[in-house]
Amino acid sequence: MGRRRKRRKIIRRPKKRIPKIFICPNCGEKSVSVRLDKENMKVTVRCGVCGLTGTFDLTPIYQPVDYYGKFVDKFHTGEIIPAKSEEYEGPGIFETADRE
Ligand SMILES: [Zn+2]
Repeated sequence: MGRRRKRRKIIRRPKKRIPKIFICPNCGEKSVSVRLDKENMKVTVRCGVCGLTGTFDLTPIYQPVDYYGKFVDKFHTGEIIPAKSEEYEGPGIFETADRE
């Protein structure tokens, strides 16, 4: 009684494997890669399937997932437009207010 069992040392590995491939908000494929261009201080987030691309300023404290988050945000706000949809006029986007 009262004797403590020796605990096995559990080595917790810090998560060093940061995912760099993400789900595309446009086509839904897991094909979005984050590419850091440290020379130009730019980050390119690009989907290899549909070609949706976003470019951001490199922020040293950011992780790839942070750029991906911005990428998704910009996609939803319409700042990033998928190349395939250029001819597609989404409902409600092009509202014409004709005053006559
Ligand atoms: Zn895509």
